[in-house]
Amino acid sequence: MPATCTTAGSETYTAKFKNSLFTTQSKRIDIKAKGHTAEAVTALDPTCTEDGHTAYWHCTGCDKYFSDADCTTEITLASTVITALGHEYEDTIVPPTETEQGYTLHKCKRGDDEYKDTFTDPIPKPARKKGDINNNGKIDASDLLQVKSHIKRVKLLEGDDFTTADIDGNGSINAADLLRMKAHMKGVTLIWE
Ligand SMILES: [Zn+2]
Ligand SMILES: [Zn+2]
Repeated sequence: MPATCTTAGSETYTAKFKNSLFTTQSKRIDIKAKGHTAEAVTALDPTCTEDGHTAYWHCTGCDKYFSDADCTTEITLASTVITALGHEYEDTIVPPTETEQGYTLHKCKRGDDEYKDTFTDPIPKPARKKGDINNNGKIDASDLLQVKSHIKRVKLLEGDDFTTADIDGNGSINAADLLRMKAHMKGVTLIWE
């Protein structure tokens, strides 16, 4: 019987002799239990998606698992498993802009995953009315001033401001546009209702 990690064994040797005067002799030798050969396996933290495990010791001799280096407490490998944590999402609502959709951003607090859903449509800027450069709902003295400074090249209007001040849409802001704005203010000829 061979020895195992925990049980003693024995081996029997038999000697036969060619000379028939001697009888066959055999001798039994006791072999002590070998003791476990423990290999330490360090603990592994679980992640959102991967299981981890506690520290344990594995005996390569008998393929058993233990919770201690002295191999006194046998455990199952399954009992060391620490289940994956699963993602823990934190939600942020990102509002839409004039050109981009809004959405809800779900981001795992451990930073390993994120996704977007609940999309909302962009909110287009309302079209500005011709002549209302300061966008306050009416053509007033402040709008006239801005057009005058543009014509005098003191402060040039650009982009949306330019388009708004170019009443006749001919690509330049000039006295004709200023005249139309004044006429609108006086209620003589309205640019818009
Ligand atoms: Zn063993
Ligand atoms: Zn995660």
